[in-house]
Amino acid sequence: MDFALTEEQTAIFDMAHAFGQDNIAPFARQWEAEGTIPKDLWPQVGELGFGGLYVSEEAGGAGLTRLDATLVFEALSMACPSVAAFLSIHNMCAKMLDNFASDELKARVMPDVLSLNTVLSYCLTEPGSGSDAAALKTRAEKTNEGYTLNGTKAFISGGGYSDAYVCMVRTGEDGPKGISTVYVEDGTPGLSFGALEQKMGWKSQPTAQVQFDDCKVPAGNLVGVEGDGFKYAMMGLDGGRLNIASCSLGAAQTALNMTLQYMGERKAFGKSIDQFQALQFRLADMEIELQAARTFLRQAAWKLDNKTPDATKFCAMAKKFVTETGSKVVDQCLQLHGGYGYLADYGIEKLVRDLRVHQILEGTNEIMRVIVARHMLANR
Ligand SMILES: Cc1cc2nc3c(=O)[nH]c(=O)nc-3n(C[C@H](O)[C@H](O)[C@H](O)COP(=O)(O)OP(=O)(O)OC[C@H]3O[C@@H](n4cnc5c(N)ncnc54)[C@H](O)[C@@H]3O)c2cc1C
Repeated sequence: MDFALTEEQTAIFDMAHAFGQDNIAPFARQWEAEGTIPKDLWPQVGELGFGGLYVSEEAGGAGLTRLDATLVFEALSMACPSVAAFLSIHNMCAKMLDNFASDELKARVMPDVLSLNTVLSYCLTEPGSGSDAAALKTRAEKTNEGYTLNGTKAFISGGGYSDAYVCMVRTGEDGPKGISTVYVEDGTPGLSFGALEQKMGWKSQPTAQVQFDDCKVPAGNLVGVEGDGFKYAMMGLDGGRLNIASCSLGAAQTALNMTLQYMGERKAFGKSIDQFQALQFRLADMEIELQAARTFLRQAAWKLDNKTPDATKFCAMAKKFVTETGSKVVDQCLQLHGGYGYLADYGIEKLVRDLRVHQILEGTNEIMRVIVARHMLANR
């Protein structure tokens, strides 16, 4: 058993970290205020190979493992978890296309997807179906030319901003087996967007409903096989959960680093606050919790890379544990900054707000426990 990162993995982490510190961190608050990430950031991210992190090298991707990808997201979210998490969604979609799209569709779209000239959104949730995603109602009627879509997707990260939408739609019976995946390009007639959602965090990412009103997509935009769309959507999620957990981890590490620094500078009762043992213990607790979270997350990623039978259970456990640990740590860091932690200038309150949603999406943390309990009961 070897817990050390390889030289290559260290280089991947360092490259992502340096890119984030130079090109994302200085602007994160501005982008949050503007409610958008400049589109010209993405091709720069694409040049690093981050547009297709775990798409194979033969197919033009970076060919990284899931464990490698967690390092990228941990490092980038040290700059801004909202930007890093958005990249995770694009990568989830890119991998779905790489795995299941026809050669014709891949030849048409993948070069721009991989270079991040095409930014992708993942459209599963609907106003009436979130955790129970297989109850989705958006219909895709088969026509001579392809499909006509009608319905609404809710909470779509990048809704109205992305260049294409990977959409789970109903082509058949009720339930998961009646769901297919279609690729819908921005600008397709009948595709429109709701108003931007006003959110607690992740504010630099536009979130909106995606609406289909007799939206016609060509038959060639079907991804994979009709009726298998739910399976594809779920297959992306194990990795997506690791990525979201990594975003909590990186952001919490940044908060802890800032707190360690701040506590040496801030004085109360004639000494710096890092001299109070009660506060030192809180620092120690946060360090222990984050290191435990990191080890657990990397173990889950290793299991997914090695396709172990319990990989899904470990991804769910890691997602719950790491996102909750991350939120707890950033909240403690805010507390240790006193009133200044509550001010936007100190950068901690943004992290508290940004990380909260990690307990809700990519499957809520209740659903993570449903998955874990199901595995335990099935294997007793
Ligand atoms: C900022 C943001 C961005 C998002 N981006 C995307 C995106 O890009 N694409 C996309 O498809 N979706 C996206 N989502 C949607 C997200 O995935 C859903 O919000 C999430 O899956 C939960 O669904 P819901 O909101 O309908 O809650 P519900 O499913 O209605 O759940 C409500 C509560 O009930 C609990 N619950 C539900 N079922 C069970 C059960 N069986 N056992 C125990 N507890 C249960 C839930 O955990 C939760 O606490 C985003 C959401 C947000 C907030």
